[in-house]
Amino acid sequence: MQKGNIGITTENIFPVIKKFLYSDHEIFLREVVANAVDATQKLKTLSMRGEVKEDLGDFAVRITIDKEAGTLTISDRGIGMTEEEIDKYINQIAFSGANEFLEKYKDDANAIIGHFGLGFYSTFMVSKQVEIVTRSYHEGAQAVRWTCDGTPAYEITPAERESRGTDIILHIDDDCKEFLEKARIEGLLRKYCRFLPVPVVLGKKTEWKDGKQVDTEEDNVINETRPLWTRTPSELKDDDYMQFYRDLYPMQDEPLFWIHLNVDFPFTLTGVLYFPKIKQNIDIHRNKIQLYCNQVFVTDQVDNIVPDFLTLLHGVIDSPDIPLNVSRSYLQSDANVKKISGYITKKVSDRLQSIFKTDRQEFEKKWDDLKLFIHYGMLSETDFYDRAKDFALFKDIEGKDYTYEEYRTLIKDSQTDKDGNLVYLYANDRDEQWAYIEAAKAKGYSVLLMDGQLDTPLVQMLETKFEKSRFSRVDGDTVEHLIRKDDGLKTELSDEQSENLCAIFRSSIPTMEKREFHVSVEAMGESTAPLLITQSEYMRRMKEVSRLQQGMSFYGEMPDMYNLVLNADHRLVKKVLADAEAALSGQLKPIEAELRGLEARRAALEQQLKDKKAEDITEEQKAERQKVQDDMTAQEQKRDALRASFAKDNAIVSQLIDLALLQNGLLRGEALARFLRRSVDMIQ
Ligand code: ADP
Repeated sequence: MQKGNIGITTENIFPVIKKFLYSDHEIFLREVVANAVDATQKLKTLSMRGEVKEDLGDFAVRITIDKEAGTLTISDRGIGMTEEEIDKYINQIAFSGANEFLEKYKDDANAIIGHFGLGFYSTFMVSKQVEIVTRSYHEGAQAVRWTCDGTPAYEITPAERESRGTDIILHIDDDCKEFLEKARIEGLLRKYCRFLPVPVVLGKKTEWKDGKQVDTEEDNVINETRPLWTRTPSELKDDDYMQFYRDLYPMQDEPLFWIHLNVDFPFTLTGVLYFPKIKQNIDIHRNKIQLYCNQVFVTDQVDNIVPDFLTLLHGVIDSPDIPLNVSRSYLQSDANVKKISGYITKKVSDRLQSIFKTDRQEFEKKWDDLKLFIHYGMLSETDFYDRAKDFALFKDIEGKDYTYEEYRTLIKDSQTDKDGNLVYLYANDRDEQWAYIEAAKAKGYSVLLMDGQLDTPLVQMLETKFEKSRFSRVDGDTVEHLIRKDDGLKTELSDEQSENLCAIFRSSIPTMEKREFHVSVEAMGESTAPLLITQSEYMRRMKEVSRLQQGMSFYGEMPDMYNLVLNADHRLVKKVLADAEAALSGQLKPIEAELRGLEARRAALEQQLKDKKAEDITEEQKAERQKVQDDMTAQEQKRDALRASFAKDNAIVSQLIDLALLQNGLLRGEALARFLRRSVDMIQ
């Protein structure tokens, strides 16, 4: 018999394990089953090399629960251990800087367990005593029993064991009785051990008989020992991939396609990644990738291991080279993890590229389901953008697809403005912007449909990537001004007439909360609409971006700004001006004359005072300046009131404004009711 203390430098390793690792208690099962599987795999290897002569027999890892004894036993028929090996592998847990490390990672069970190779010791999180009964595969080896009650003191005694292998017998703590429930253990095994390479058996399969569940003869095997990703692609059919996907995600739509990953240099990684259909709501697709280490489930939180946009993919990654048991922040800087990220990103873009090249039609068909993923990738990873820009598609309003390069060639001649900038026109609502789209098409322009969730930031980014190019929504300006080819038509109106028209229309725009209108006059040709409402591209985009990003509420708070453009060439606008001049000129003329006089006075005053310091200006002069200003304001108000009263009684003005608002979905409530009433009255 041998007695001794476990060779860890810190006396309090067990209290630490017990106390701090509360939330991760359940992983002890993963650790012991993985050890059992390892031992079995090693035996198989030795047998293949001819170093083990005996017949392997049954080599399943068996888990048994004895509720009465309060034990959970994990048995394997692997290589087993000799007394020396127990001493070496179990007793001497040599590590350095233990205290420091424990302090730092006391809340992170995985980090501690992984760092110290304490897999086996994690059993003390749930056990008051642990026994190992083991017999080495070496011929004539003596079985030994190791026991330890959670203090650093252990005991080794000779034991009986019929054949090679190891039993780990956990005497479960009173406060961890859940681990004696079959359902709980089965749940954990299905989570962590579902794809282990050696059969893992928990009792027998059960069936309904005489009103209760009874055991059958058949072993209850938990796992699939040769999961799809470990097999060679050439032996797999599409159906196999589909079936595996359904097994992993029973509730999901079928995937679009998949990639089978398989590398062994400079790191080892296998796996299968599926592209799900992503129509909307990116977030529901996240965190569906399962990470395995030699077929042992580790986590489904793969952020930090793969770039953010790849967390939208589904499937399995298996790599012994990802340091799983370290803290998450450490992962990000790990060189292997970086290489793996880069590799997966490249594989994903290669796959997309190859589908695009070999079957463009198919690619176009799937584009709508793929684009959110691709756009997200392009926006978040420059490397991915550089690859994806060759197969990412633009869709025009007719539904035709183009690559970026194809589209550039298409519009180059017709949509370059006078400064040599290429203008990409787009709409994001076919119905709402219908009239603007038609106007652009009538001009021979092409209009893109950009109605995707990420199209706003995409447009922002593409503007920075494409040379001498900008994007403009079709309703961003009058069609003449969307792409300025020359200085355009000039209105024949005098400044005064324009100002008069603007004021008349301005006074009749219904007031709306958080909406502002700027009125202007332009010559747009006789056949164009009399009024047009446009929305500044810049402000609109700022507001859209602010909706997506935090910390930009400044723009979110701003009112929506619209331009109301009057078409000076349209007969109705001309008529309004003529009628206004006829009705108001008698009253406006004296006011205009008065205003001109006041303006002259003010200019003279300014001239007189301009070189004087503030303190040298006399009270009298100040008073006069103020009076001129007040008189001007009074005259202006009088003028505005006249125009407003003209506008108020003028059905054409109200009707034209309402029609323009209606076209843009801005006419609502009382204003809409008024419009309808007026329209009915107009029918004779
Ligand atoms: P790790 O598995 O990370 O090496 P563990 O603490 O889990 O750390 O195990 C320590 C060592 O104990 C293993 O490397 C192995 O040599 C030995 N061991 C543990 N469990 C078994 C087992 N069931 N059969 C044979 N050897 C085992």
